Amino acid sequence: MAAEHDAISDGVTCIRNADWIIAWDGAAGSHVYLRGGDVAWRGDRLLTVGGRHEGAVATEIDGTARLVMPGLINIHCHPTQTPIFRGMVEEFGNPRLFYSSRHVFRQSFVQDEAAQHVSARYGLAEMLACGTTSIVDLSHAYPGWLDLLAESGLRAWAGAMFRSARWHTDTGQDILLDWAPDLGAAAFEEAREVMDAAEAHGCGRLTGLVTPAQINTCTPELLRAAAELARKTGRTLHTHAAQSYAEFNAIAREQDRTPVEYMAALGFLGPRTIIGHAVFTDEHPWLLWPRRADLRLLADSGTSVAHCPTVFARDGTMMHHLGAYMDAGVTIAMGTDTHPQNLWQEMQLAETIARLAAGPRHSCSSARLFHACTIGAAKVLGRDDIGRLAPGAKADLVMADLDEPNMRPLRDPLRSLIYSSVGRAVRDVWVDGVQRVAAGRVLSIDMAAAARDLQAAQDRTAAATPDMDRVAPLSLPVSGGT
Ligand SMILES: [Zn+2]
Repeated sequence: MAAEHDAISDGVTCIRNADWIIAWDGAAGSHVYLRGGDVAWRGDRLLTVGGRHEGAVATEIDGTARLVMPGLINIHCHPTQTPIFRGMVEEFGNPRLFYSSRHVFRQSFVQDEAAQHVSARYGLAEMLACGTTSIVDLSHAYPGWLDLLAESGLRAWAGAMFRSARWHTDTGQDILLDWAPDLGAAAFEEAREVMDAAEAHGCGRLTGLVTPAQINTCTPELLRAAAELARKTGRTLHTHAAQSYAEFNAIAREQDRTPVEYMAALGFLGPRTIIGHAVFTDEHPWLLWPRRADLRLLADSGTSVAHCPTVFARDGTMMHHLGAYMDAGVTIAMGTDTHPQNLWQEMQLAETIARLAAGPRHSCSSARLFHACTIGAAKVLGRDDIGRLAPGAKADLVMADLDEPNMRPLRDPLRSLIYSSVGRAVRDVWVDGVQRVAAGRVLSIDMAAAARDLQAAQDRTAAATPDMDRVAPLSLPVSGGT
């Protein structure tokens, strides 16, 4: 595997006189706006953030009508799975799709390994293009995974998922499990090898992540072993838990405790643990649970939550409510989980849903959500050098075009990026000081070619899916029939 450090320039790159900068104020513990100034870096490290950069500059970039900000961190995504689902899964719950539902679809439309690879290639490019510089990729290990992550130019945590049971459902109301603990142990071993290989990869941007897939598909022994490995290796621990009404009820029925209480009892919670998605905690009014302990358990242990509102909203569910988690002191990070893999959309929806759920008590703001997509995520990944623009931090940064029509009139660039441009103003992206997106075009992956390959993979998988017109019907009938 070729080292890619040769792509990092020795000279200083300087964005001169950027109109706006989102800089990190370490003393205040918050991002702040700077009006006018330079952002300069040498190699993979930032030298100057704001003010005038003095000294020799090898590459100068005009910052007129530009916002410079830290790259976003996607704490929870499944690029091998979700891009290929475009146009098929967004409307479950629509009466027209009554026969088809998420569980029927997922059991019918089955991608092969080649399609997963094509999906991932497109998905990584999609994330870079909207200003994401770091991702937590939750995938079942596949050949070529680490090389593809390296080729993308992203900074990535490879979370090879493992579990002791396959889950399925026949009604969508209950989760049925086929247990195979030996397979879980074997997958855990394979995941350990992937984590070691990620950290030994020549690109220097990959890290392992300990990822039991879901708390209800892993034996307690496997969950304990995963937590122990994370503690011993200093790696972050990530799982899906408290993510569905059915899962909450199954654990409550068996154990008379909530999924979060179960994880606490296993020794699973802690400052390097992320829970995707902690939607169905005992805070949720739909559960009619008699106690209120989950948010305190999460906050006191320093556990983070991977909040991904889009995928839940599409199923008609939501966290209730994000502001209460934040006010309780729970660290929030954000991910996309599904497509489109656009954290700007997630931020917009997160605040909108929090307002709908909590009314005037919602406690959310653009500042808090941007903090979640940068500092909150960096914290649980154990990094104080990403998700911020400060001298000495990694040169993982994004430049947005303030003349992009959706950004005008310009009063507050962060708010407009979230609510009006939804990331369309992102033009240039650097990771480790290396430019990966220029003038809106992803340099490391040919996105047009990736889209063509993804189309072919979707067509091929659809052709192999029985009863496809009923599993994933079109939104409008085709005139004259198909
Ligand atoms: Zn997920």
